[in-house]
Amino acid sequence: MSNSFQNFNLNPNIIKSLDVLNYNVPTPIQSRVIPPLLNHRDLVIKSKTGSGKTAAFSIPIIQNIKWDKREPQVLVLTPTRELAIQVKEDMFNIGRFSRIKVEAVYGKSSYESQAKQLKQRTHVIVSTPGRLIDHIENKTVDLSQISTLVIDEADELLRMGFIDEVERIIHFLPLERLTVLLSATMPTDIEKLSNLYMNNPELIVIEDDELTENKLTQYYYEVEQKDKLKLIDDVLIIRNPESAIIFCNTKQAVDDVCEMMDEKEYLVHKIHGDMEQKDRLKVMNDFKHGLFRYLVATDVAARGLDIDSVSLIVNYDIPYHAESYVHRIGRSARAGKEGLAISFISNRESHYLDQINTYTNHDIMMLERPTQEVVNQAFEVFQNRQTSDLVIKMGKGFEFKEEIMKLHINAGKKTKMRASDIVGTICAIPGLSAKDIGVITILDISTFVEILNKKGELVFETLQTMPIKGRLRVVSKANKTEYELADEANKTLE
Ligand code: AMP
Repeated sequence: MSNSFQNFNLNPNIIKSLDVLNYNVPTPIQSRVIPPLLNHRDLVIKSKTGSGKTAAFSIPIIQNIKWDKREPQVLVLTPTRELAIQVKEDMFNIGRFSRIKVEAVYGKSSYESQAKQLKQRTHVIVSTPGRLIDHIENKTVDLSQISTLVIDEADELLRMGFIDEVERIIHFLPLERLTVLLSATMPTDIEKLSNLYMNNPELIVIEDDELTENKLTQYYYEVEQKDKLKLIDDVLIIRNPESAIIFCNTKQAVDDVCEMMDEKEYLVHKIHGDMEQKDRLKVMNDFKHGLFRYLVATDVAARGLDIDSVSLIVNYDIPYHAESYVHRIGRSARAGKEGLAISFISNRESHYLDQINTYTNHDIMMLERPTQEVVNQAFEVFQNRQTSDLVIKMGKGFEFKEEIMKLHINAGKKTKMRASDIVGTICAIPGLSAKDIGVITILDISTFVEILNKKGELVFETLQTMPIKGRLRVVSKANKTEYELADEANKTLE
């Protein structure tokens, strides 16, 4: 089947990745962003998540990377760790047949292991501003060769108070560079930033109706605080969603809702800002893969989370900022799927509803609370779903597993292992060439190497009896998830 991304004259390795990811037709934002970026034109892109924006900037940027260069060439700044990991995974997936090395650098994770990774060949750094500044101050990152800067979710960077840090970072970058800024909204501070630090940028606006929002149905219930726990239970029973995110404004509300659902033995987990980074990553990852049905969260989970199909979003508390509402409901009705967003609003909170209606230019409809009879009628079907099997969803990287096998070799820098030793050995295997070798990561006492083109099993078998650098090494399969790797990095801290 032909891939219409071919019209952009992309190199075959990128097309191959897009084929595996099942990206066959560019989304509107991709059609409009890829050509000017391939031509090194600065862009300001106004678009919401869910539009395919990450691939829109990643595809042309990866195409323009000079593989041989050791120093980082691309810097992506994101407001949150979760988004940094998401962007890293997306860029890695798009660039994996081009052997592009992407590092995510974010707070509350092992600083030392990030510094070590940054010393190796790294093409792309995806980072939250604070942690990058630590690396700049400690001289553990080299930004002198950055030729592309992406400021992702600029409005959120602003809202979280990171704009000064973004400006500080920009002063460390070469003036001669391509700059891309993405934002869901365009407050004046963001316009100022683009005027100051960008070179005659072209503005690309992706209208909401080009997105999927029209497939999202939105309702609200009027409900007093004391009745919310009962109402959330009723809503889950009558709507009976495959998966749902329940957003609360406070950690206390998250705890209360989660406890109620736990007592009823629903498959539920929670996530909020006070949790350890590794626990948050695990919960997110498990939810993404469909290991449980209901996620109760504060807004930390709302941004940049690439969850395929949450069928129901509940605003247990109405958010106080209209932008947050848009970000929260953006977790549903993604990629053309249908979705439902339900908000609980108390009498005192009706002005927030007015603000949201004005901001979104859409009147959210009110629903009458379900009667006990309706809830009782729906209960049996709901109960059946609770006891039926979950649909486990594989990550986007999963499709690659057949194609790509990651091997672990128990030798590294301490035993003077170099990438050329690995490449030399693997290329000596009949039927193998450098084209079959993906990213090589050399750590102190271990090395990870990706074998492409379904040749992993052959290399794995051969290396059981074939020496590398004069000695037989223990070689094992190492298909770890991002979460497991982050978890390991954390353990080195403890
Ligand atoms: P984003 O706006 O970057 O968060 O992307 C939204 C979702 O769309 C992600 O799950 C992407 O993997 C997916 N996606 C991006 N581009 C395409 C495409 N051309 N075809 C199909 N899915 C895509």
